[in-house]
Amino acid sequence: MGKKYRVGILGATGTVGQRFIQLLESHPQFEVSALAASDRSQGKTYGAACSWRLPGEMPEAVRGLKVGAPAPPMDCELVFSSLPGDIARETEESFARAGYAVISNSSALRMDEDVPLLIPEVNHEHLAQLDAQKASRSLDRGMIVTNPNCSTIMLALALAPLHARFGIEACVATTLQALSGAGYPGVASLDAADNVLPFIGGEEEKIETETLKILGRHEGGRIQPAPFKVSAQVHRVNVSDGHMAAVRVKLARPASQGELREAFASFTSLPQELKLHTAPRSPIIVRDEPDRPQPRLDRDAGRGMSVTVGRILADKVLDYRFVALSHNTVRGAAGAAILNAELLVATGRL
Ligand code: NAP
Repeated sequence: MGKKYRVGILGATGTVGQRFIQLLESHPQFEVSALAASDRSQGKTYGAACSWRLPGEMPEAVRGLKVGAPAPPMDCELVFSSLPGDIARETEESFARAGYAVISNSSALRMDEDVPLLIPEVNHEHLAQLDAQKASRSLDRGMIVTNPNCSTIMLALALAPLHARFGIEACVATTLQALSGAGYPGVASLDAADNVLPFIGGEEEKIETETLKILGRHEGGRIQPAPFKVSAQVHRVNVSDGHMAAVRVKLARPASQGELREAFASFTSLPQELKLHTAPRSPIIVRDEPDRPQPRLDRDAGRGMSVTVGRILADKVLDYRFVALSHNTVRGAAGAAILNAELLVATGRL
């Protein structure tokens, strides 16, 4: 067996942090050696600081680890960050300057020109931005790689094969997002029950801008954003896990419904070729039943790493419509970051 990297988790007690701990239990390449959270948790063992909210027991290996402050030095070689956006920039930059690889979920650095906004199946060539980053930030061994917003990952993954084969000229996406996307305790129960909230701060802008960076081309050391417009409207719905998006697309070249289906279903990429541990066999699973995808039935597809697409139909306003669904804390957060780290290892960048 190859080397095991010692990893730290920033924001380890939160919704995404707990998912990291769960997915990293018995991971072949990474072992959790350090944890950090707010001053509410610092100085306690993880077992005492964290109210474990995932099914099953808290993994034994982390129970006794001391929770520290999110500041270097930490006893690890790379850090996974799931810190709140407002403190992420300064903290993540300080870890990169101190020589750590930072694999972040937070929004703070995603749109910085020298930071890869990575979905390994979609834009692995954007890792070349790390060379520019090394120079622009005068980094020695440190680096920063981000994964997109949880709804953006699902949308960009679903659009990727369509953009590659037919070209996309316009996209309209309406999301129905799970409560766990707001972290814990998240939305007040009296706001969530019997209700839909048509506002998630900053989310529409993230979907509209991040998607174009991800689907953009790496040219001359820069990312040229994809040349189409995305319009997003978002809603928080009373579902525990699993974000859904109703999507309409206008294509640059004509395509039949069958070709669209085939483009989704046959899509695979470098993570599948490299057989990365967290990569699903099918990044996109197509369901043909008229009432799929559904959060409860489809969020765990591909161990939470596949996007499920259904209701692929011609649209009377744009060319086609479909519904996409994925697990927001697995493919949309911790699983995405772990897959990013696996790609860094496999491509020799760590
Ligand atoms: P959360 O459940 O509220 O957890 C926040 C974590 O950050 C906790 O571990 C908390 O520690 C820690 N923290 C809070 N303030 C801190 C401070 N001042 N210094 C150090 N640590 C601090 O939130 P979450 O849902 O896990 O989200 C974390 C990040 O991931 C956010 O940037 C979010 O936008 C992003 N994200 C979330 C999702 C999702 O589906 N939930 C998806 C994609 C991206 P204590 O327990 O000690 O307070």
